[in-house]
Amino acid sequence: MPELPEVETTRKKLLPLFLGKRLLRIEHQDPLRYRNTERALGQRVEDLRRRGKFLLFALTEGWEMVVHLGMTGGFRLEKTPHTRVAFRLEDQEVFFHDPRRFGRIWVVERGDYREIPLLPRLGLEPLSEEFQFLSFWEGLRKSRKPLKALLLDQSLAAGVGNIYADEALFRAHLSPLRRGRELGKEEALRLFLALKEVLAEAVALGGSTLSDRTYQQPDGLPGSFQERHAVYGRTGLPCPACGTPIAKRTVAGRGTHYCPRCQGA
Ligand code: ZN
Repeated sequence: MPELPEVETTRKKLLPLFLGKRLLRIEHQDPLRYRNTERALGQRVEDLRRRGKFLLFALTEGWEMVVHLGMTGGFRLEKTPHTRVAFRLEDQEVFFHDPRRFGRIWVVERGDYREIPLLPRLGLEPLSEEFQFLSFWEGLRKSRKPLKALLLDQSLAAGVGNIYADEALFRAHLSPLRRGRELGKEEALRLFLALKEVLAEAVALGGSTLSDRTYQQPDGLPGSFQERHAVYGRTGLPCPACGTPIAKRTVAGRGTHYCPRCQGA
């Protein structure tokens, strides 16, 4: 699933294509998944921001188009067999491609997220100034959940998914099974810094394109952070730090990759 770095990379690539442009046509055949898109017709895109894994297109006349890429969604400059939505702009077409159809689009009055209850509940953006260690630590100390589950639940930091949770825990030398409230200040600080570091590096490298090549940037380029994965998708391969085979187990319902030696799990 596209996570913060993939969605942010998508945002950066879409911004010059959409900014200031009018949405002339939005074609699709699924008004339940792609809701109220007729409201956006004729509107100009004034801004494109990201919150967690959501893309927020600010439109004229107070409308907002919210896009969630789901499991396999992404934007493309060319039509594909899995194109679900075609956006006709003044000077070109941009396509929403989504083989598994978990992606969603909503057009709402700006800031009215009643149809999208997850969006207003998101925690802070981990790459923003507002994301500060003391409140992060406070959040950890209130939680009995395993760290892996806590990182995935979006309340402590928005936009983190399976890949970046596993990579951040590896860099922080923490077991995915440790409970938030068991962490000392030093350990919590390691996790805080590792999370920011992993996400910032992944954004700089255009996100992670796995072997299924599901995620691509809108211009068709792959990301390259997968080349730096230490644990994610590396079950049985040697840990880059100590050589111990990387292990995998299910935590919080998700396949979780870790080094049994470095992370003590
Ligand atoms: Zn190791």
